[in-house]
Amino acid sequence: MIETNATVRVIEGLHTRPAAQMAKLMKKFGCNIELVCRGKTASAKSSVKLMLLQVKEGEDVLIRAEGDEEQEAIDHLVSCLGDPQFGMNMDQAPAAAHEVQAVHTQIDNGSEVHVCEGLKGIAGSRGTALGPAHVYLPQKLVAQRQVIPEEEISLELNRFRSALAGLESKLSRQSAGQVEGPAAEQDRAILLALIEVAQDEEYVGAIIRGIEAQGDAGAVTLRVGEVLAATFAAMADDYMRARAEDIRGVTRQLAAALLGQTLPDLASVPPGSILVANDLSAWEFSKVPIANVKGLVCIGGAATSHVAIMARTHGIPAVLGLPLSEEELQSIQCLAVDGDHGEVILNPSDAQKTQYQTRMEAEARARKGLSAFRDVHPTTKDGRQVDIAANLGSLGEIELAQKAGAKGVGLFRTELLFMQGRSLPQEDEQTDVYHQLATAFHPHPVIIRTLDIGGDKPVAGIDFPREENPFLGWRGVRMCLDRPEIFKPQLRALLRAAVAGNIKVMIPMISDVNEVHRVRALVAQCEAELNSEGVDCASFELGIMIETPAAVLQADALAAEVSFFSIGTNDLTQYVMATDRANAQIASLYRTEHPAVLRAIELTCEAAQRAGIWVGICGEAAANPDLIPQFVAMGVTELSMSPASILSSKKIISEL
Ligand code: PEP
Ligand code: MG
Repeated sequence: MIETNATVRVIEGLHTRPAAQMAKLMKKFGCNIELVCRGKTASAKSSVKLMLLQVKEGEDVLIRAEGDEEQEAIDHLVSCLGDPQFGMNMDQAPAAAHEVQAVHTQIDNGSEVHVCEGLKGIAGSRGTALGPAHVYLPQKLVAQRQVIPEEEISLELNRFRSALAGLESKLSRQSAGQVEGPAAEQDRAILLALIEVAQDEEYVGAIIRGIEAQGDAGAVTLRVGEVLAATFAAMADDYMRARAEDIRGVTRQLAAALLGQTLPDLASVPPGSILVANDLSAWEFSKVPIANVKGLVCIGGAATSHVAIMARTHGIPAVLGLPLSEEELQSIQCLAVDGDHGEVILNPSDAQKTQYQTRMEAEARARKGLSAFRDVHPTTKDGRQVDIAANLGSLGEIELAQKAGAKGVGLFRTELLFMQGRSLPQEDEQTDVYHQLATAFHPHPVIIRTLDIGGDKPVAGIDFPREENPFLGWRGVRMCLDRPEIFKPQLRALLRAAVAGNIKVMIPMISDVNEVHRVRALVAQCEAELNSEGVDCASFELGIMIETPAAVLQADALAAEVSFFSIGTNDLTQYVMATDRANAQIASLYRTEHPAVLRAIELTCEAAQRAGIWVGICGEAAANPDLIPQFVAMGVTELSMSPASILSSKKIISEL
C-alpha cells in the first residue's frame, strides 16, 4: 500500500463533474484507491462517494492506493487534483478567476500549457473573440437640484410614480417579447428580476420617503440606488454581490427619465464589435443587437452577474472585472478576448491576431459539429431513443427552440402569461397563445402546464394570503382547484387550442390522487360546456408533474390515472431534501445528484414502466451532462430543457 498527500486545486472542489470524471478515470486502474479528507474516507472510483466527501478547493487530502498499478493510479489522481480546470467542459460556466494578474502567468492544465499574454479578469462566458472595440461609457448622471419646496412634494411623487410605471411597462413589454428585444428564456428571467427590483418596497419605499422629506426625485433615486447597490456589493456571496448591478441598471433608467436625460444608444453597436463598458447592466445588455456583438469586456461584473448569464445564453465570449480605468478603456481600438481563461489583449499584435483567428476558426468548426445534431433524433448506442424538447415561457422563445432542433415542447410555463399583465389573461387570449404554440411545433407534441403560481410569486388579479411557508402552501394545482373562476378559463382555452392536434396538458404540484380526479372532473365539465355552446374543441392527453415526495410514493396509483409523468427535478429536489431551492445559505444541500433524489426519480420511472406510461424530465437537471446517462438508464424517454442546452444534450445521448 502507498500513501501520498495532495492539495486540491480543482476550482470549487470535487463537485459533480470533476467527481464523475475522476471516478471514471480511476476505474481504469486495478488497485483500490481512496481519498481521505477531514477524517472521512471515500473510494476514488465512486463519483457519489467523492461528491459526498465535499472536498473543497484548497483542501489537503490523503490518497491511499493498494494493489495493481497503485503508483500509476496515485500519480494520475495527484495530477487531476492539481488541475484547476479538471472536470470542466464547454457547457459549463467557467469559474471566476478572482485574482487580477498581468502578463505571463502559466497555468498547467494537464494536457496543454496556457500562457496568459494579456490582462486577467474574470472568465464570464467561454470562447474566443477578436474585433474592434465599441466603447460604451454613459456619462455619470448628476442631479442639479437636491431639495424641493414643500408644495412640490405631491407633484414630485407623481413624477416619480409615472417614471416608475413607464420603466415597469417597458421591462414587461420587453420580457413578453412584444417589442424588439431578447428572446431567450434566461434573458426574460433577468428582465423579470429587474422588474422585481423596480417594484421592491425596500427600493421604491425609500425613494418615496426621500421625496416626502423634500428630496428631488432624481437626486433621491440616485442616492437610494447607490446605497442599496453598495449593500449588495459588500455581501460575501458572489451571487448576491452581482445583484448590485441590477439595482444600478434600474436606477440609471429611472434617474435618467427623472432628470430628463437620454442614455447613450446601445442599439447602434456595429456588427463584429467587442462591446467594452465600465459596468453594463442586464437591462442595458438586453437592448444591444446581440448578433452584432462578438465579445464583451467590462471593468465591473462577476461570473454570476446577469450580464454574464446573458452572454453565456447567447454564446458571446466575455471577460468581466477587468483591471482598467475608464480613461484606458477609451483608448482601446481593438481587442482579443479569451473567455475561457478570463483574459483580454488590448490592441493585439499581428501575431496575436493570427493566433486568435486560428482559435476562433477551431471553435467555429466545433460549433458546426454541434449544429449537425440539429435534426438528429438522438439514440443511444444500445438503441434507446430520447426526445429532446424545449422548456418555454412565451411565444418569443419559439425561434430559439426551433433553431436548436427541439422535438416539441416538454414544458410551457403558463405563469408568465399570467404574470406579465396587470390583470388575468382572458380565455380568448390564452386560446390564441396555446394555439400559436401548438401550430409552431406541429406535429411534435407541445406540453402545456396549467398555472403553477404560489404565494411567493403573486399575480395581479389573484389574492394570495400571507403564508409562513409559501413553497408548502397554496400553490399550483391547490390554488387552481380552489379558484375555478381562474382555472376553468385556462382549461377551456386548452380544450379549444387542442384542435391543433398536438397539445398535451400537465398538472403541477400533484400530491394526492384525488387532485387528479378533481382536475379530470373539471376538464369534463368544461368540455361539456364548450360542446353545448357549440365552440370548437378537442380532448387532450393529461399528465402530471412528479415534484413532491408524496407523488413519488404514490406513483403506482397516479400512473393508473394519467397518460404520462414529467419529473420536475427543481421542486422534487427541494422537497426531497427539505431544502428551499432559493436559499443560497443551504445551496450545498440542494443537489439533484443526491442519492435520495436520484432514488425518487428511479422509483417514479419504475412505476411508470409498470403502468406502461412514458416518463420525462423537465427540471433543470434534464440538461445536466453528468445525470443524463443515469436518467436514460432509468428509462426516461423525454428530456425537456432550455433551448441553449438542446444541441449538446443531443450529442451526449448520441454518444452514450
Ligand atoms: C420543476 O420544479 O422542476 C419545474 C420544472 O417546475 P418549476 O421550475 O417551474 O417549478
Ligand atoms: Mg416545479
